[in-house]
Amino acid sequence: MTIDDLIKLVSTYNSGEEEKIKEAYEFAKTLHEGQYRQSGEPYIIHPLNVAYILASMHADRDTVIAGLLHDTIEDTNTTKEEIEELFGTDVANLVDGVTKLAKMNFSSKEAMNYANTRKIILGITEDVRIIIIKLADRLHNMRTLQYKSEFKQKENALETMDIFVPLAYSIGAHRLKHELEDISLRYLKPKEYEKISDELLRMQKESEEIINEMLFKINRILSDKNIPSEIVVRTKNIYGIYKKICEGNKLRDIHDLHALKIMVETIDECYVAMGAVHSVYPPFNEKFKDYICNPKTNMYRSIHTTLFGPNDKLVQAQIRTFDMDKTNSFGLTAYWDINKGDARTRMQEDLRNKYQFFSSLSEINTVFLDNREFVAQVRSELFGDRIYVYTTKGDIIELPRGSTPIDFAYKIHTDLGNTIVGAVVNDEEVSIYYPLENKDRVKVVTDELSKGPKLEWLHRVQTARAKRKINEYIRK
Ligand code: MN
Repeated sequence: MTIDDLIKLVSTYNSGEEEKIKEAYEFAKTLHEGQYRQSGEPYIIHPLNVAYILASMHADRDTVIAGLLHDTIEDTNTTKEEIEELFGTDVANLVDGVTKLAKMNFSSKEAMNYANTRKIILGITEDVRIIIIKLADRLHNMRTLQYKSEFKQKENALETMDIFVPLAYSIGAHRLKHELEDISLRYLKPKEYEKISDELLRMQKESEEIINEMLFKINRILSDKNIPSEIVVRTKNIYGIYKKICEGNKLRDIHDLHALKIMVETIDECYVAMGAVHSVYPPFNEKFKDYICNPKTNMYRSIHTTLFGPNDKLVQAQIRTFDMDKTNSFGLTAYWDINKGDARTRMQEDLRNKYQFFSSLSEINTVFLDNREFVAQVRSELFGDRIYVYTTKGDIIELPRGSTPIDFAYKIHTDLGNTIVGAVVNDEEVSIYYPLENKDRVKVVTDELSKGPKLEWLHRVQTARAKRKINEYIRK
């Protein structure tokens, strides 16, 4: 990997930025002079790779430059001010955003770690690009983990699963997430990792013929219908398979091990394509999901339909537009491609308006001032086990497992929470403490004359928002 490789990659999607990027490279290289990685290579190779990962996501110029400079404030004698002078305010803020807080401000290593974790997570609220640079940084460190001690390998893999994988998921960056998960699993459960990848290879050969036959047939019916399309085979990542096996599934029974990813140009064509596919391969109705009309809370969109394929095989097809596919792979960072020029504003706006994760995070930030409590709440409310329930209008609300109708009500509207007296879940009356389950349909029952939130509720709710609203009401 050289600076020329990086320049070449950037110029494939963004021209006229070569000079500034080269300048940033030379600046970082001089600053890191004399520093080496554990692999024995000069340190600059790391920021260069991070910038390359970002450029392969078609990152804007400032992000690529910040990738090159991302370790300079922390590990060399330059300052935010100097970077601002040379490369502008945006770059300086990005580099500052990924820099750890100074040691001297903390009484213990633990306190420092909690403060830094909080800083990383909250980076998202300032500028999503901070998180993306952090993720690229982590990815390159994970890719080169073989040079670290066994203890460090495990420690880094655990931290990656704990913080970075959930962060990647929350912004919809599935491609990054999958690679981070697989590398982590390789270090945490090497035997299981080996076993699954071997078996996967064998199964791949076994099902190759069936998949190719389906691909060929579907290709033909779609071109008969004049629908421009592209079909690729997508294989589930090793960690995804590992998780299914842990849930008690056999490798052979995982229907989406290999899926046919069918990409078309418009939403209308998605449904026409679906009809066409179903006419050759009947759908298994139990396993059908329309994430186009009902996107996942991280904006993943696609139709998932499981088909009765040749040789008694069930095979999943995923139908989406080309743009959806970009968002499904790269999450918010897909905007670099889809909304050129305007991407940065769009990312931050969409994060604020469409991602439930964002408002919950802001809420947790307001309620939990202590860093340790903040991290604990993020873990349980946002990174832990979650459930997805429906409103009676069909909207999907994301909640941490164990949430009650009170959490649900406050998530929708303060008045709803303040006047809740009961709930109807899947047409049955339940109490306000009822633990909601995945896919429940929830209707809140209110009474204007209710006495309002009680102190006891505080011990029953899971979300920071409900806690804050109940406290506010009681204080009044
Ligand atoms: Mn780094």
